[in-house]
Amino acid sequence: MKTKHVPQRTCAGCRTGSAKRELVRVVRTPEGAVEVDPTGKANGRGAYLCARRECWEEALKKDRLSRALRTNVSAQDAEALRSYAERFEPAAVGSVD
Ligand SMILES: [Zn+2]
Repeated sequence: MKTKHVPQRTCAGCRTGSAKRELVRVVRTPEGAVEVDPTGKANGRGAYLCARRECWEEALKKDRLSRALRTNVSAQDAEALRSYAERFEPAAVGSVD
């Protein structure tokens, strides 16, 4: 049985590898801003994060995004990313599917 190759990326927060399409891309724009790239196709250096709030907080708190993107995430951009992450349910609360 042949398995189809699924592109894998590592989350900058929890360092777990996941299928690229399950992760959210964050991009460093040519202007040096760091922002969410919902299309996954924006130009610039990208980093990936799970759709989990903790991963975003972890990546921001430990400055992992700055390292992954080789830039300094400004306080303003970090704030925007934090508020973006608020749409994700915290994993501590049991999910009810
Ligand atoms: Zn993660």
